Amino acid sequence: MKRIAVLTSGGDGPGLNPCIRAVVRCGLKAGVEVFGVQWGYAGLIDNDMGSLDSRAVSGILGKGGTILGTARCPEFLELQVRRQAIRHMNQRGINGLIVIGGNGSLAGALALHEMGFPTIGVPGSIDNDINGTDLAVGVDTTLNTILDAIDRIKDTASSHQRAFLVEVMGRDCGYLALQSGLAGGAELILVPEREGPTLESIAEEVLDAYMRGKSHCIIVIAEGWKPGTKAVQEYLLSRREELGFDVRVTVLGHVQRGGRPSVFDRTLGTRMGAMAVEALLSGESGKMVALRGNGLELFPLAEAVKQLKPLDSMLLELAEIMD
Ligand code: ADP
Repeated sequence: MKRIAVLTSGGDGPGLNPCIRAVVRCGLKAGVEVFGVQWGYAGLIDNDMGSLDSRAVSGILGKGGTILGTARCPEFLELQVRRQAIRHMNQRGINGLIVIGGNGSLAGALALHEMGFPTIGVPGSIDNDINGTDLAVGVDTTLNTILDAIDRIKDTASSHQRAFLVEVMGRDCGYLALQSGLAGGAELILVPEREGPTLESIAEEVLDAYMRGKSHCIIVIAEGWKPGTKAVQEYLLSRREELGFDVRVTVLGHVQRGGRPSVFDRTLGTRMGAMAVEALLSGESGKMVALRGNGLELFPLAEAVKQLKPLDSMLLELAEIMD
């Protein structure tokens, strides 16, 4: 293998740049030329890629986002389109690909592998919903961003005796809500993996916090939780007089995706990028680099994308005790 390519795909997050940097530098060290593909799978289809030297990845370690750009590319689900992508790589003499991204992107990587193109995945997702890896690149930084916001909200909530609903990202996965709620001392955490509670029982929790003399009540809500943040807000406001707390909502939104990667994400991105190159060059394909305990292992992409990573119910129970 003389030439390999790297791309970032799907949702962006912190830690992608350290991973790209590691792929380029480890590849060069091993004697292969490394191509950076722009805008995820769209760049493979449009033949938008170029050779990266060591200087091309200078100074990016501490930068959020991805220097390669990322995109969602629904056309990539079509076989003909993927054939075209492989053709473009073959024409350049590229015969290995590293895909950094979430569940969808890793499904794309698996599809390329199944078409005979050597492909290795790196889990890059703020949601931590990728099966088979303890953590994905980006999760740690995102959690710290959310935690910082919760701490600040708590200050103002206490000063005004307010209940705050803090909505965090995570699509159908409650991981970010659970972890940040636990670390941020939330009174209640609502995640899609656990059915309920009813609006009535949420109101009871708020009232209970007030009666216990709390100066605030923080409820962390995962964006995928139903019936949703607005329904809770409206219900609590309808019972405002009896609950004691006034109610405010903060939807954290895209601030959660940006920012300088943490020490942990820089290190994880670097380690995973290095291992992805090593795996590809030693003939592996159809695998994802996974963090298991403190070590890295290769995990089958087919298993990684088969299901979402389940939530640790022990942590949820712990959070309930801590309210
Ligand atoms: P993420 O990777 O963050 O989960 P998406 O789910 O949007 O983000 O997936 C990113 C991209 O991966 C999609 O826009 C598409 O190009 C590609 N992709 C997703 N699923 C598949 C699939 N089953 N086969 C081929 N490519 C896919």
